[in-house]
Formats: sequence, C-alpha cells, structure tokens
Amino acid sequence: MNVAIMGAGLSGLACAITLEKNGITPTIFEKRSSVGDRFVNAEVLLSILSRPVHDCIASLSEEYGIYLNPTSSVQKMEIISKNEKAVIEGHLGFSNVRGREQDSFESQLEKQTQTPIHFNSEKTYEQLLSSYSHVILATGDGEYAKKTRNYREDLTVSIKGATVEGEFDRYSVTAWVDYDLAPFGYCYLIPYSDKEANISLAIPDLPKNKDVEINNLWDQFYDQVRSQTNQQLPITDQFQITKYSMGICQSPRVGNTFYVGNCFGTMMPFLGFGQYASILSGVYAAYDLCGLGKYEELMKPLRKSYDDSLVLRRSMEQLSNEGLDRIVHALQGNIGEKLFQTRLINPLRVASYLLRPYIKLKEGDGSN
Ligand SMILES: Cc1cc2nc3c(=O)[nH]c(=O)nc-3n(C[C@H](O)[C@H](O)[C@H](O)COP(=O)(O)OP(=O)(O)OC[C@H]3O[C@@H](n4cnc5c(N)ncnc54)[C@H](O)[C@@H]3O)c2cc1C
Repeated sequence: MNVAIMGAGLSGLACAITLEKNGITPTIFEKRSSVGDRFVNAEVLLSILSRPVHDCIASLSEEYGIYLNPTSSVQKMEIISKNEKAVIEGHLGFSNVRGREQDSFESQLEKQTQTPIHFNSEKTYEQLLSSYSHVILATGDGEYAKKTRNYREDLTVSIKGATVEGEFDRYSVTAWVDYDLAPFGYCYLIPYSDKEANISLAIPDLPKNKDVEINNLWDQFYDQVRSQTNQQLPITDQFQITKYSMGICQSPRVGNTFYVGNCFGTMMPFLGFGQYASILSGVYAAYDLCGLGKYEELMKPLRKSYDDSLVLRRSMEQLSNEGLDRIVHALQGNIGEKLFQTRLINPLRVASYLLRPYIKLKEGDGSN
C-alpha cells in the first residue's frame, strides 16, 4: 500500500500522524511553500459543538495521540445582539491560532510527523491516483469532490478579518449576532494574547444579501468593536475570503480516495466550525487504511452533526433581529451556562430536532 495525502492542513496532517503510528509512512503533497503559509487568524473550539466530547483537546491526546496546545481556555463568552447581551461563563472551550505562526495548530501537527512533505506541489489528484494505491484528499475545500459529483454545496460565505492591537482578556471571546452588522451572519473577537486579537465578520452569500457590500459592513463593525471596547484597536494585518464553501460529500470514500476535512464536509454551516471534525476525519481515514475501522461508519456522527448544523443555519436565515434578541435574552442568567455545561444532552442536536418541522429547507438540502 502506498498512500498520498493531498494537503498538509489539519485533516491531512492528523491522517499522516495516525498512519505513522500504525506503521504506514504516507507522502504529503502541499501546494504552499510551508505548512500554514497563509493569513493568520484565531479560531475556537467550543465544547458545546463537540458533544458528547466535553474537552476535545484532552480527547484528541488521550484517545487519538494528537497533541495540541491551544492559546487559551475560553472561560467567558459574550453574545451581543442588537438590543441584548448574554454573558456565559465556565469552561467553554479553547482558542487557538491558525496559519503563518510558529504555534499555529498546523505547525504543531507538522512537528508530530516524520512524513515527507513535498511543498509547492502542482500534482493533481488524477496524477496522485495514478501513482499511489490510495489518495487522501485534504485540500480544505470541496473542489475535487464537486468535480467528481460527490459534493453538495449548501452555502458560501464571505469573510473579512483583521488582527488588532489593544488590551484584551485572553480567556474571553465575543460574538455579535446582529443583522445590521452582519446580515444573516455573525462577527466575533477572539484574542491571541493580552495584546492582540482577531476580529472577523462573516456573511452568507444569500440572494437576500446580494446588495450587501462587505467592506461597508466592515467599517460599521470595526467602529462598533472600537466603541464597545473603548479602544482605538489599530489594525496590523488583514484578510478577506470570498465564497468560502460549505457542503458535504455523498460518500466519504469513493474507491481508494478518502475525502477528509472540508473536502468531506466537516465545516459546520451554522457558525463555520470545523477544526475538531477535520482532525477526527483524518484520523478515521487512517484507521480505515490500518484496518482499525470503516471510514464510512466512523464518519456517520460527523455527517449527522453537519445535518443538524445545516438545520440551525437555515433557521438562522429565517430570523430577524427581534428573534435574535429573544434568543440572546433567553441565554442570559444561568440558562446559557447550563446549556454549555450539560453533558447529558447535545443542545444543538435537540435544537435541530425541535426546529426541523418549522423551517423551510431548501430543495436539495438533504437535511430533512
Ligand atoms: C476565517 C475562518 C475562521 C474559522 N474559524 C473557525 C473556528 O473558530 N473554529 C473552528 O472549529 N473552525 C473554524 N474554521 C474552519 C476550520 O478552519 C476548517 O474547518 C479546517 O481548517 C479544515 O481543515 P482541512 O484539513 O480540511 O483544511 P486546511 O486545514 O485548510 O488544510 C488544507 C491544506 O491543503 C492545502 N491545499 C489546498 N489545495 C491543494 C492542492 N491542490 N494540492 C496540495 N495541497 C493543497 C492548503 O494549502 C492547506 O495547507 C474557520 C475557517 C475560516 C476560513
């Protein structure tokens, strides 16, 4: 067996680490000149989104031998709608860095593998398939899956983000769900440290957003963050992404090709989280190749999470600022904290189950 991994991101590297542990040395092909050679941003892993697992960093090391050091544990989250604010406290998850930083998650994973990485690769999937017995598609998007008609795209999103300097509580993150700031989307602030934070704005490319200009919204959002934090927040770095795709493969494996990470559909359409599921998908593909499980079976819970997340996303698209205010109001007090802390139920699954009959699913959503 000789295995090619296309993409040295979270899922591809997690796959390589797991294969190596089980005696298989794959070859990685990465189109960029080094691991994580792209914009820097802060991301979070929220425990409410990884149920039944409460601490995904501990679980990754204890159950899968994947070791990651986040930047901080998230102990406080402020959720701000147009007229309401909820503050949720407790052990809510972790924040981490991505991209061109020595402690980014992808850099940390690279250090855990001996697998040779061919940088600046221009190899196509077809070329790899003709030279290797198995190909792991880990390119972070659904392009190849689309070409092979194995992918249903549900949403594309435009994202604009920046690194700002100021004074921050590194254990606290803020999310804005206010459709004046981000129509049918959201904005957030995640500190990298006490002195730097990432602020971002994400809006779905919906027909009702066709006249929305992200750069105009950005100015409004930036002003809002500055006034709410009462700081100047000079920008030191910026990124912008258009048409970031969220969708899912019909089959996680076709012949000897495994679709992992975003190539499969690990990016959850509700709020755009995908790190934990991406890492797991890479591990699961390796398990299959090592005879430790069946990829299609192992991926079933991740597909279910995607479907639940899509129901929540479609519900979000049907809300107004008044509806968001009501939800944020309901999260005040200890209800929000209880939702985050409960280990008995998966709140997002329950919400998706309850909302399913009431939302208008689009044709082809496949989530009914
Ligand atoms: C702005 C932003 C914010 C996000 N915030 C969060 C968050 O807060 N929490 C969360 O859980 N998730 C978040 N996500 C989602 C998360 O980052 C992704 O789900 C995750 O990185 C996907 O992992 P992956 O392995 O599929 O792809 P990646 O980690 O992106 O890796 C893909 C790799 O493949 C390489 N590649 C691409 N094309 C080729 C090719 N043709 N040949 C060879 N190599 C190729 C790329 O260069 C890259 O190295 C966010 C995403 C974005 C864009």
